[in-house]
Amino acid sequence: TSAQAALSPSAKYACQRQSPLVCPNQDLVEQLAVLKRARELDLNWESALSYARAIASIKAYPRKIQSAKEARKLAYVGDKTELKVIREYLKSGQISETKSILEGEKYRVLMEFSSIYGIGPMTAQVLYARRCRTLEDVKRFYKDPDNAALEIEEDDDDEDEEKNVRVPERWIEVSLALKDDLSIKIPRREVEQVARMVMHELEEIQPGCLHTIAGGYRRGKRESNDIDIVITHPAADANRVRELCQEFTDVLSKKGLVTHLMTLTGQHSPSSSPAGVIAKAFTIFSLPGSGRSRRLDLIFAVPDVYWTAVVGWTGSTMFQRDLRLHAKSKDLKFDSSGITRRTDESVIIAHSEKDVFEILGLPYIHPTMRNA
Ligand code: ATP
Ligand code: MN
Ligand code: MN
Repeated sequence: TSAQAALSPSAKYACQRQSPLVCPNQDLVEQLAVLKRARELDLNWESALSYARAIASIKAYPRKIQSAKEARKLAYVGDKTELKVIREYLKSGQISETKSILEGEKYRVLMEFSSIYGIGPMTAQVLYARRCRTLEDVKRFYKDPDNAALEIEEDDDDEDEEKNVRVPERWIEVSLALKDDLSIKIPRREVEQVARMVMHELEEIQPGCLHTIAGGYRRGKRESNDIDIVITHPAADANRVRELCQEFTDVLSKKGLVTHLMTLTGQHSPSSSPAGVIAKAFTIFSLPGSGRSRRLDLIFAVPDVYWTAVVGWTGSTMFQRDLRLHAKSKDLKFDSSGITRRTDESVIIAHSEKDVFEILGLPYIHPTMRNA
């Protein structure tokens, strides 16, 4: 079929390529990722995206790259900037700019600041410009009431989706206080343990819910930065979904399992998500016994958009971005809250994950191959 034919390492969109967690050119990818991150931290989005595309393209290449000639054939690598550094890497095993970035103070500081939930590259730059160099400086900065009005960003680039999500300011203080816990990665076993506990609690207030652990866990990452769970109930409409999200986070809070609620959306839902078919709670979960704080994202979806939500929240961010672009090229609109035809805004319902790919005219790609 045409969908099958489209699945190729040199395809245009990441959602048409198999991208394993670790690829044959992993070291090159990691050195390029430093350049990409440095561009992001410098607010040079165009250059960052260009590197991100080159990286995603290399991740899908099934052999170790031996020559610039070989590299040049890959989508998004032909550009002279990327090709130049790749050439240097192939010759010396190193990229000199990567080395100098890693040795510089500014990159290290900005990386540390932007690792705090609520601090994105923009805020990190402002903090740096205001002479903050350590997290202690940042804490002091936010304690000063003169600085209270500083705008706070969410550290993801979800394009048009969920522009209404804002991280409340006090969140920086919370994430700063919990920094030591939140910076410890979560092993798969603990992700599963938390999910089991969460679903057990949910069963008490609403029996019969279905869930999928999404995010990096589902893509096979051995350790995650947070836990993403997509939840639905066969009989829930949009109202019930919002209610459940609210009720459930209340219950978890009362039980002391959720210690902080960062964002709760879907309540008034003014934006893109049609009729609030998705409700989200970004929380901090405290694992009894260990007492360790973990970021836990709960995404409640009505059954009709459950599978698009699962695909959306499985990521990767680049895979998801290209799913949208690919959909657009087919006159469809894809995001976590569903698939619609652009021409008449009619909704197309996916009844399984495979269905999502089929509707978009894509070959199915296993979650562990979505690490673009
Ligand atoms: P890790 O959590 O280990 O850093 P991850 O890939 O799970 O890695 P997340 O930030 O948890 O990263 O996001 C998982 C996926 O969910 C992303 O790839 C993205 O597609 C989607 N996502 C994240 N935030 C939003 C949001 N606010 N709205 C819609 N989708 C989102
Ligand atoms: Mn995650
Ligand atoms: Mn998450």
